[in-house]
Amino acid sequence: MVRTRIAPSPTGNDIHIGNLYTALINWAFAKKNKGSFIIRIEDTDRTRLVEGAEEKILSSFLAYGLDYDEGPGKEGKYAPYRQSERLSIYKKHADELIQKRAAYYCVCTKERLDEIRKIQLTEKKVPRYDKHCLTNQVEVQKQIKKGTPYVIRLKVPEHKKIVAEDLLRGAIEFSSNDLDDQVLLKSDGYPTYHLAVVVDDTLMEITHVIRAEEWLSSTPKHILLYEAFGWQKPIFVHLPILRNPDRSKLSKRKNPVWASWYLEQGYLPEAVLNYLSLMGWSHPEGKEIFSLEEFIRVFELKDIKTSGPAFDQVKLEWMNGEYIRNMKHETLNMKLLDFIGPQYPKELVEKTIPLIQERIKKLSDYLPLTEFFFKRPEKYEIDMSKYKDILKKVGEKIETVTEWKSKEIGEAMQSVATEVGMKNSEFFMMLRVAITGKKISPPLNESMEILGKEESVSRVKSATTPES
Ligand code: GLU
Repeated sequence: MVRTRIAPSPTGNDIHIGNLYTALINWAFAKKNKGSFIIRIEDTDRTRLVEGAEEKILSSFLAYGLDYDEGPGKEGKYAPYRQSERLSIYKKHADELIQKRAAYYCVCTKERLDEIRKIQLTEKKVPRYDKHCLTNQVEVQKQIKKGTPYVIRLKVPEHKKIVAEDLLRGAIEFSSNDLDDQVLLKSDGYPTYHLAVVVDDTLMEITHVIRAEEWLSSTPKHILLYEAFGWQKPIFVHLPILRNPDRSKLSKRKNPVWASWYLEQGYLPEAVLNYLSLMGWSHPEGKEIFSLEEFIRVFELKDIKTSGPAFDQVKLEWMNGEYIRNMKHETLNMKLLDFIGPQYPKELVEKTIPLIQERIKKLSDYLPLTEFFFKRPEKYEIDMSKYKDILKKVGEKIETVTEWKSKEIGEAMQSVATEVGMKNSEFFMMLRVAITGKKISPPLNESMEILGKEESVSRVKSATTPES
């Protein structure tokens, strides 16, 4: 039984788009194998907690359709799924490591740690705990009994080769000499990530630990823990980190990185997931656009490439546009209404769809193009005053159109253009601005047909005499 998990820390505004990618792969792999996908909230770093982040993360996963089988609010047999509610479990396991002599107590003060760090840095050494308390455990325990605050540290053996097997990267060798005696349990009783992740992945029977590459360097510490507990290791899969097209890391400073930002901009969840699925992986038939069901069916974990894939917003926008283009009118209507809000009349939105479906790439492109259907232009992109007489003529002419259809409207307007001897390009630009306020708009005749005769006539006539 495959069990995968995503383990977000509620330390930001939302989930990072890179974490959404990791979640997608975990989710799809669980679905593919009829297994379970678990969300575990890793909230043990109390200093970095952001209020409301957990709710936001969970709602973003659901907004993208990445439903979970177990997690906060969906308590299964491995509950609780929030690490802050599992403190006694970590304590018990930290004690077990002490008993097994794989960990030790440490009462070093922050001042002492800062001091040795400073010295190591001036000696150009990698700062690391100097095992001061390890050789002093009897004394240290006496101090702890008297109430001195303490932490529990991992006892990293010397000169040990640690091999991490990664499904994508093969065997990666680490030397224990490069590892610090990591704090496992902090003086506030909270575990660090390393202890909590190993304990939880084991107790929650996670079979595949699929996470971002940045955690690879922590894996040897985790392996030491698995070995100390005598536990079987999960299969490790370290996914590539998404990069900008210029290879730099996606970062909050330079990019919109929050998953919900994309939805707020009118990207469709299915398009974003489709795009993300192509990060480091390609469809065996070279297809770019495919459903999530198809992805689940055809993808294989082992085929993911580890060289940092480029997350290109321009490409994503193109793909989103393709999704919009291929959508049934009815579906697009529904999505647009959801996006722009209930104050826009459904029937009118529906009529505009054939005019804009090919033109928009994101749902947020809709209103700037179509606002004029819902309210008269308040400003005009060109000066209309010089067209007063011509527009009056156009108004009178189109008033006589009996069949209010785009073709007839176009013919009527063309006849005025010919009559007044104006260049077509200028004439129709003037009309477009009179009707829509803008120089660029959906097709004019069709737009006028939708607006209706009365409204169109009135706009043409009033463009040069703005209401006060
Ligand atoms: N809490 C870690 C994070 O924020 C989880 C890392 C892991 O998946 O092991 O990404």
